[in-house]
Amino acid sequence: KQFTVYVSPIVGQEEQSALAVITDVTRMHRLEQIRSEFVANVTHELKTPLTSIRGSIELLKSADRDEDTRRYFYDVLDIEAERLHRLIDDMLALSQIENAREDPSVRRCSVRQELEQCIDRLAPLAEKNKVQLTLDADSTLFVACSPTRLQQMFGNLIENGIKYNKPNGSVSVTARRQRQTAVIQVKDTGIGIAPEHFDRLFERFYRVDASRSREIGGTGLGLSIVKHLAALYGGEVGVESEVGKGSTFIVRLPLLKNEA
Ligand code: ADP
Repeated sequence: KQFTVYVSPIVGQEEQSALAVITDVTRMHRLEQIRSEFVANVTHELKTPLTSIRGSIELLKSADRDEDTRRYFYDVLDIEAERLHRLIDDMLALSQIENAREDPSVRRCSVRQELEQCIDRLAPLAEKNKVQLTLDADSTLFVACSPTRLQQMFGNLIENGIKYNKPNGSVSVTARRQRQTAVIQVKDTGIGIAPEHFDRLFERFYRVDASRSREIGGTGLGLSIVKHLAALYGGEVGVESEVGKGSTFIVRLPLLKNEA
């Protein structure tokens, strides 16, 4: 605990007296610490691709590079520019979601329909990674969300399931009704996550294996976005996992009242 103490004499009274104000500043200091950690993280995340970009430009400037080398550095420029783009998009999304108390674009969304759209969008990535992608969803589940945000939430989980998988692995997505709640599970047969990471997994920029995550183009913000979105819509997200066997991410969202 941290406190500030302010003491001041009270003038104009016959007896000598003083006023003491003691303020608990623990929370304020903690918030300040979180803010400066975030700024340090963002700076690092932005600088890493920029360093690569500047290095590649320097190397491309010299005239004596052969065609293959030039192509290699153009590819580096492409990948790093894309990484910056994704990072900025994710940071903007996160800051919008964090500041939103309620979402004005909320409407009645079919869980299955939004999941189908995500699966269609991510099918090429799954094919490229040789991962089988399946969906088994109750078609009677409706929630109050923004369709774009709902797809972002499901998409981040499905994309992780594909990215952190093994060749010939699978990602199976299910959506079921449990009393007044839609329960969406994204289960993969991938590398898995050790339990000591569960607590911090949904923090911004937290990665189990930073170099692997960067290599496959992760921004480190995906799960944080999922957690904030689930909370914005009155739900929650959790994880179950076993190293080497796979992970299951579970999202619970309240069903629309008259449909539950
Ligand atoms: P990233 O952009 O790095 O994937 P996320 O916030 O989406 O960031 O995930 C945070 C970290 O959690 C990842 O870097 C990875 O280490 C771990 N992770 C997320 N999903 C999975 C999964 N399905 N299987 C194994 N590890 C995962």
